[in-house]
Amino acid sequence: MPGKNVEVKPQTVEKTKDIFKKCVDFTLADEVKALGVYPFFRPIDDSEGPVVSFEGRKLVMAGSNNYLGLTNDPNVKQASIDAIKKYGTSCSGSRYMTGTVRLHIELEEQLADFFEKECCLLFSTGYQTGQGIIPTLVQRGEYVVADRDNHASLVAASIMAIGGGANQVRYRHNDMADLERVLQNIPESAGKLIVSDGVFSVSGEIVDLPALVALAKKYNARIVIDDAHAVGVIGKGGRGTPSEFGLVNEVDLIMGTFSKTFGSLGGYVVGERSVINYIKHTASSLIFSASPTPASVAAVLATLKIIREQPQLTERLIANTDYVRQGLLKAGFTLMPSRTAIVTVLIADQMKTLYFWKKLFDAGVYVNAFIRPGVMPGHEALRTSFMATHEKEHLDKVITEFCSIGRELGVI
Ligand code: PMP
Repeated sequence: MPGKNVEVKPQTVEKTKDIFKKCVDFTLADEVKALGVYPFFRPIDDSEGPVVSFEGRKLVMAGSNNYLGLTNDPNVKQASIDAIKKYGTSCSGSRYMTGTVRLHIELEEQLADFFEKECCLLFSTGYQTGQGIIPTLVQRGEYVVADRDNHASLVAASIMAIGGGANQVRYRHNDMADLERVLQNIPESAGKLIVSDGVFSVSGEIVDLPALVALAKKYNARIVIDDAHAVGVIGKGGRGTPSEFGLVNEVDLIMGTFSKTFGSLGGYVVGERSVINYIKHTASSLIFSASPTPASVAAVLATLKIIREQPQLTERLIANTDYVRQGLLKAGFTLMPSRTAIVTVLIADQMKTLYFWKKLFDAGVYVNAFIRPGVMPGHEALRTSFMATHEKEHLDKVITEFCSIGRELGVI
């Protein structure tokens, strides 16, 4: 109360629990390190794309999202260098205020054209893009309708919406009967946004978009698809999941990232002009965060040009991934269902996953280990992903090492 002295009483109750106690109690990472199988935060010394160096050793990179291998393309690198020369290393402000440069506008126009949507808005990461869309659009009393296996960034964005008074209902992964059950239980008059990955990031599975679109129409819901792992991989000329199914007009908003096929850093959403305009002027993760750097944006302009001009890169990516997928299936591994650039090998045991990962690493193959809390117990896996620039010798190395270690550890 203004002007009134408030007496602060000394705490008499039992000693307050220290907020940091959970950090001191967190021993999992140290335990895994002590066993010598810690797979995270390993610093790469230099990278050519499909091959990276680690402490003087060359490893085949079979876990990157650099799907078309464009992060090392000379034209892409040069575009970033030129942008730094022209604009400097940072925009030093948010898009909303002084942080917009011509390159941002140029890329927004080009992406809207590429994805065949009216309008585009850039964000500084894909993670922030979800946070800019979901809590901004889904407000008090309205509903986020989310796939249970959506990417962590969408889960976090949905929680923000709940914090703002929205409701969230989740349906079983890619299960359209369950989506219908969930939609039936939402009041007819309430606004609803169905949120799903286009290509699911752990498994590489594609959303059942035709059924999802039909349900959205039937129950008057809007749709946002996160196509982070689909662009450059599926769809006409690599345009992603809505294009793959011929449903670009039926998907209201398509979002994605520049950290995968586009070989850079940042995010985007494309859709109807009025919706993009609303997000642009009200999304907290856009307004209160610095804009993507000129170097990042210029890299995307350069990769977009390559994606448009060289559709054979996507064909090569798919052929490379199929080659490994068939090799691992033939050897008897259990793979998650995917026909995209992700091949996830189910190990279903935490320690075996970590030992498998370490043996692959020592043998010269760098993949991703998925253990808890990233996945549920029993779903531990090694996730591999491929590039258009992998050569046959790289792919053969991956298959050979997987088979030999898989046999040694009794996985196959
Ligand atoms: N959505 C999905 C489906 C992703 O896989 C990722 C990144 N792993 C993101 C969003 C976040 O993108 P960014 O890396 O640009 O923050």
